[in-house]
Amino acid sequence: MPDTDRPDLTSLAAAGPIAADGRLPLIGLDKAEMTALAVDMGEKPYRGTQLFQWIYSKGARTFEDMTDVSKEFRTRLADTFTLERPKIAQEQLSEDGTRKWLHAFADGQKAEAVLIPEDDRGTLCISSQVGCTLTCRFCHTGTQRLVRNLTPGEILAQIMVARDALGEWPTPKDDSRRLTNIVLMGMGEPLYNFESVKKAMQIVMTGDGISVSRHRITLSTSGVVPEIARCGEELRVNLAISLHAANDDVRSQIMPINKKYPLKELMEACRTYPGVSNARRITFEYVMLKDINDSEADARALVALVKDVHCKFNLIPFNPWPGTPYECSDRKTIERFQEVMTSAGLTCPIRTPRGRDILAACGQLKTDSEKLSAKERRVQAEEAWAEKEAQLVL
Ligand code: SAH
Ligand code: SF4
Repeated sequence: MPDTDRPDLTSLAAAGPIAADGRLPLIGLDKAEMTALAVDMGEKPYRGTQLFQWIYSKGARTFEDMTDVSKEFRTRLADTFTLERPKIAQEQLSEDGTRKWLHAFADGQKAEAVLIPEDDRGTLCISSQVGCTLTCRFCHTGTQRLVRNLTPGEILAQIMVARDALGEWPTPKDDSRRLTNIVLMGMGEPLYNFESVKKAMQIVMTGDGISVSRHRITLSTSGVVPEIARCGEELRVNLAISLHAANDDVRSQIMPINKKYPLKELMEACRTYPGVSNARRITFEYVMLKDINDSEADARALVALVKDVHCKFNLIPFNPWPGTPYECSDRKTIERFQEVMTSAGLTCPIRTPRGRDILAACGQLKTDSEKLSAKERRVQAEEAWAEKEAQLVL
């Protein structure tokens, strides 16, 4: 007979920082762990499935909500565990309908999530780390010093908070949902926190969990080559690569990770990505930086670079942020670039920036609220890059 008073909590340590009141977060545990927990507490294994469904499919905020669970078990659960979401430190609504949440986790660390509503879909862009250890020169997150990995529970909570806000509990059928797609394109490099991302996405993909199909999930990476195949094998989600340059010189200059994993290796990983085909193509993201990577010669080099990869492109007009050394290419230049790409047979839409007014667009996320001048910010960014690179975090 298990000791019902003291469940084995060691496996829960990974779930995340303990809440201020000392209770442990349940969000982040998968079905097997919830089942083990129920058994540890002297309950039948199916109680674990019930907990899982209440949390991830019905969005229960308290144990009291779980009406088909005995009152006695609910009370014991509430004594030890919490279903609390992170605190919302700030919530902003853009004039184009984009919503941004600044989440404050139990230890006070913060990360952002952005919901982009469109006519036929709603895409939630979530973070995988607080800040990012990488230092892409065009990215606001890359200037942020403080970094820690988010736990599976913290990754999931970003989705659950969006569902709370949309009133989308219990999980609606696909055709009526407003939150339909998930992209790992917020703060952080998801392949440097792969175990947590994987666990969270597996719960997301579970039918009686959050229930979003792998076809509607996209993981974006700066090109952590050794982890790319695992992503295809173990998660089978869509892959996006932040490419941003057609040759190693320019790419290494704007994305220092390229020195470690140059284009030849990156292209090989894309060619052999598990599950890739003409029907399931890799997305290359290409940020348009004035006079850096936006010439017609760059476009031609790009066509040659990707010639045997099943892929499509997104041209992203550069989103400026305070202190950035870059400018966005002119509209005409972007259109000429697009023309070279499309006449070579590549799908290559120009993305419309969303949520720029609330710094919610690609690459604008950063969680600090210091008020500094543009020059101070540039100096701060250069210091942060130098500091991170000195630590050889690549
Ligand atoms: N770390 C991952 C995912 C987060 S970044 C990655 O790098 O892929 C999400 C996307 O926004 C990436 O393609 C990134 O290169 C792009 N991005 C970064 N800064 C940007 C900016 N200022 N303007 C436009 N896109 C930017
Ligand atoms: Fe990190 Fe991606 Fe920004 Fe590069 S673009 S600094 S990898 S978040």
